Amino acid sequence: LMKEVQRNEKMHVVGQLAASVAHEIRNPMTSVRGFIQLLTGSHNLSSAEKDYLTISLEELDRANKIISDYLSLGKNQIIEKDGILDMGQEASKSVNSLSSYATYHNVDVSIDIRGQAVISGNTGRVQQMFVNLIKNAIEAADEKVNISIYPNRDKVNIFISNDGEGMVLEQIEKLGLPFYSTKEKGTGLGLMVTLQIIREMGGKWKVVSDKTTGTVFQLTFPLCNSKWHWI
Ligand code: ADP
Ligand code: MG
Repeated sequence: LMKEVQRNEKMHVVGQLAASVAHEIRNPMTSVRGFIQLLTGSHNLSSAEKDYLTISLEELDRANKIISDYLSLGKNQIIEKDGILDMGQEASKSVNSLSSYATYHNVDVSIDIRGQAVISGNTGRVQQMFVNLIKNAIEAADEKVNISIYPNRDKVNIFISNDGEGMVLEQIEKLGLPFYSTKEKGTGLGLMVTLQIIREMGGKWKVVSDKTTGTVFQLTFPLCNSKWHWI
């Protein structure tokens, strides 16, 4: 048990360090991006020079994406302690932060919350988990993503489903492997981190996918009985 506790604490410290490094790297990248953007407005650029600037912007955006998929937590969640989280509220926050992304993809995201789905965890990590899963669902969906969350006995159940093209077994088996991506601009890091977060919080995951009807990610976490926390 001691070993397990030490390991968890270590992971916590590593996670926080990664989050602050990501944050610190993003600031200079933002200013570099701004200057390159300014240069693209210059009138005496050759077409080759314009191409270089475009490539620079694309590569900066790619680096930024790797940081979001792999390291970064939410916007201002650099130091977060573990606490009692309402998964319905957490999922709603993630859905709100992805609303323009969903609109851009012409996907309708709905969310059903029943009861008090409370677990013990870390907001930053939970946000990162939801954002990665919901983003993937939006990217794969034809037109609909649905999230449903409810407590069941001593568990919290979470379903994230999308219509559209699902996966075949060979694809499912590769989920969570680093750099496995079928997308042109994918990083293949989102699910790896997400599955790690699920493990950290004592959760389990399962995927049900069908080539024509879409995909459902099912998660379960130990329910945190809120009564006990008032003692
Ligand atoms: P990325 O999104 O950058 O490709 P991820 O680790 O988030 O990386 O996902 C890895 C791969 O898993 C995706 O490229 C895709 O092939 C597959 N995948 C994940 N979620 C879904 C989903 N909801 N429907 C279909 N395929 C999915
Ligand atoms: Mg992804």
